[in-house]
Amino acid sequence: MHLGNYLGAVRNWVDEQHKHDAFFTIVDLHALTIPQDPAMLRTKIRELFMLLIASGLDPEVCTLFVQSHLHEHAELGWIMTCTASIGELQRMVQFKEKSAKQGSDFISAGLLTYPALQAADIVLYDADLVPVGEDQRQHVEITRDIAQRFNHRYGDTFVIPEAVTPPSGARVMDLQNPTNKMSKSAESPQGTVGVLDDFKDIERKFKRAVTDNDGEVRYDVAAKPGVSNLLSILGGATGARAQDLAANYTQYGPLKADAAAAVIEALRPVQARFGELAHDLGEVTRLMNVGADKARVVASATLTRAKKALGLSID
Ligand code: AMP
Repeated sequence: MHLGNYLGAVRNWVDEQHKHDAFFTIVDLHALTIPQDPAMLRTKIRELFMLLIASGLDPEVCTLFVQSHLHEHAELGWIMTCTASIGELQRMVQFKEKSAKQGSDFISAGLLTYPALQAADIVLYDADLVPVGEDQRQHVEITRDIAQRFNHRYGDTFVIPEAVTPPSGARVMDLQNPTNKMSKSAESPQGTVGVLDDFKDIERKFKRAVTDNDGEVRYDVAAKPGVSNLLSILGGATGARAQDLAANYTQYGPLKADAAAAVIEALRPVQARFGELAHDLGEVTRLMNVGADKARVVASATLTRAKKALGLSID
């Protein structure tokens, strides 16, 4: 998890969990569309789970679980795969882009069919609202199409979900290439701030952040992407408006130092809670089971309904 995920998305989820009956899942089955190192995958699943709790998702308030801990996802995923057409799966922009990027390398069949599994992930929870960014809207559309087709063929079974745009969090850009979004696959690790980064590293990354040569502190994303990014990170971390913060600075150095300090203060409690959980893996396992048990109550009812509709139930 990097600072962009945290300020742009996870913090909103923490607020939203109190307004909805919210489900959050770590989609480890989707991670299998590329080959994985098992020990690393296991570590990363736990780490993300702990990071989400450390960031403020409360297993008592929302339902937070790991997808593969429930067989219902894979099972309904197959049913959804059989309800989707190859043509509509091939039209997914992400499939086109990712398969083109992998070129002649191994391309898993799962890369094509994963939107059907994602459809199962959504309808299993009778979800009416799915908060997604622009790049995922097409996937909610295909979920609606598959679910409607199923309902049409076999009778009303699934709630038809709707994509909603979540409240917009800060858009965090790469500190080295401020016209690109900060991302986990960035070419320069120096431009990406990890939520678990050492505070000294965070200070260093901000100190070396790319700005420009005109020496004026002003919020102007087009003309001054680096400076504007620092202002918006400072704003995101402190709750102030980036436009208003510019007036407090005449030089880049203090702005960089304040942005680093604000980010460190925002991440300090997250890292502290993460550290506690990392020392209590028994508690992490318990919380994973709590989440899976809560999720299963809803998911198994939906799967049973779908299997009955299909003529697959034992009774
Ligand atoms: P990803 O890691 O790309 O799957 O993104 C997970 C969530 O973090 C999504 O809701 C993204 O919109 C959000 N996100 C990812 N990168 C950034 C960024 N650089 N700035 C703001 N939000 C981001």
